Amino acid sequence: MKTTIRRWVETDTGHRIPNHKVKCCNLHGHRYRWEAEVEGDTVTEEGVSDEGMVIDFADINRILTEHVHDVIDHAFVVWEGDETTLRALKEMGPEHHTVMVPFIPTAENLARWAFEQVAPHIKSIYGNSMRLAAMHVWETPKSCATYRI
Ligand SMILES: [Zn+2]
Repeated sequence: MKTTIRRWVETDTGHRIPNHKVKCCNLHGHRYRWEAEVEGDTVTEEGVSDEGMVIDFADINRILTEHVHDVIDHAFVVWEGDETTLRALKEMGPEHHTVMVPFIPTAENLARWAFEQVAPHIKSIYGNSMRLAAMHVWETPKSCATYRI
């Protein structure tokens, strides 16, 4: 039996789905919620800070902040093949926070991206089989994509 815990950070991030049949082809943004789900055994080592935990929530928060929030907050995420948007963003000048990615920035693809950003940093020193089990990306309060391995 494993225990899972979740912690999230939020960002304000712009994107565009260039081929979308309705409104998502417009430049727009979301208040994204990036929710990491970590699985493992609870730490049994007596007297350590993490005793009884899978991982300290503060540690997940630090990892999410550094590898997701600080990369993508108040940025515009653009697919490297979206030449129209890339031209427009170039007009914004070199100070504009643009994040170019090799995929169309749907919630599904962003969930995989965030998983790959975070997973290498979820490590245990207690041998409690801890790992990042999933990344849930909330694009709106009613729309969530999950990447899970
Ligand atoms: Zn959108």
